[in-house]
Amino acid sequence: MAKKEDYYNTLGVQRTATESELKSAYRKLAMKYHPDRNPGNQEAEEKFKQINEAYEVLSDPQKRQMYDTYGAEGVNMGGGGFHAGGFGGFEDVFSSVFGDLFGGSFGGGARRRHRAQRGNDIKEQVSVSLEQAYDGVEQDISYERIDTCDTCHGSGAQEGSGRKTCPTCKGSGVVQFSQGFFSMRQACPDCGGQGSILEKPCKACHGSGRQKHTNTITLKIPKGVKDGVLLRVNNGGDIGTNDGGYGDLYVEIAVKRNKEFQRDGDDLIIEKTISFPQAVFGDRIKVKNLKQEEVNLVIPAGSVHGSQVVLEKQGMPILGKEGKKGNLKVILNINVPKKLSKKQKAALEEFAKTLEEEPSFFEKIF
Ligand SMILES: [Zn+2]
Ligand SMILES: [Zn+2]
Repeated sequence: MAKKEDYYNTLGVQRTATESELKSAYRKLAMKYHPDRNPGNQEAEEKFKQINEAYEVLSDPQKRQMYDTYGAEGVNMGGGGFHAGGFGGFEDVFSSVFGDLFGGSFGGGARRRHRAQRGNDIKEQVSVSLEQAYDGVEQDISYERIDTCDTCHGSGAQEGSGRKTCPTCKGSGVVQFSQGFFSMRQACPDCGGQGSILEKPCKACHGSGRQKHTNTITLKIPKGVKDGVLLRVNNGGDIGTNDGGYGDLYVEIAVKRNKEFQRDGDDLIIEKTISFPQAVFGDRIKVKNLKQEEVNLVIPAGSVHGSQVVLEKQGMPILGKEGKKGNLKVILNINVPKKLSKKQKAALEEFAKTLEEEPSFFEKIF
């Protein structure tokens, strides 16, 4: 598949574009390339799809954030990237911007009576330990979402009851009214354009056919996940209306702090206290990585307090890069002894004397 053009380029806007700038850019382009205005023009049709896909993503703050961070592939559970684009899907984006304004001129005459609308997206938060972020983890999460009503199974009607002709529009689904010189037609507000209403609405959902449910899913949190990463669960959101499908669930990951290991991107940082002779002479010691595995560490001779030794590939797994890891940075703290034995004191005094014997800077010059 050819590499997709950048969504911002597609709409001809800056990456910093505001919501209203995006909307106005989308309006202009969608008008220009709408298939009804370019009959039989394949190129315009393709362009129109791209414009709709770009706008669907960039007009949704969460999708935009994911796009800015990860590009068109996003980080998501299904592995399908953004499910934008494609005819059928664009109509919702298109009508959310244009409303019913072009209901007559675009789309060929009568509006669909049962307007399908996708359900809302939902956002949840999950926190994991640094160790869980290292290994990746499957975690069950429960949250509330709107789904099909259990009592009426989505029909909205009480058991045994049906629908009757809407008295307002007498079954036509449209009402007509005059405004100045114009005579306008609009979907009937009482039956939502369906032409019929419920005889007896379901008591559990008041006729909507939908109610709140607790949904439990198993979330697969990938290795190397970082604080603030959004994971998308396809169809994890609210149910839509008229077979419009489910919205998505977005889970924001919070990675808890670890007492010993500090995280710096894909690297981990620990502190290690060494003795004064180890700093002077150097040494070979072992330190533990996050997995509590022992790793060899070489202290270079003449190490100073606060110096850093890097152990390659002993850090965090890199998100989305199978098998790759960051580094473990070990900061050396030199322990200055507070209590010395007589013998140690004598040895150190002896050492200090040798320092005095060395010619000082001034003595060397003069
Ligand atoms: Zn119901
Ligand atoms: Zn009606």
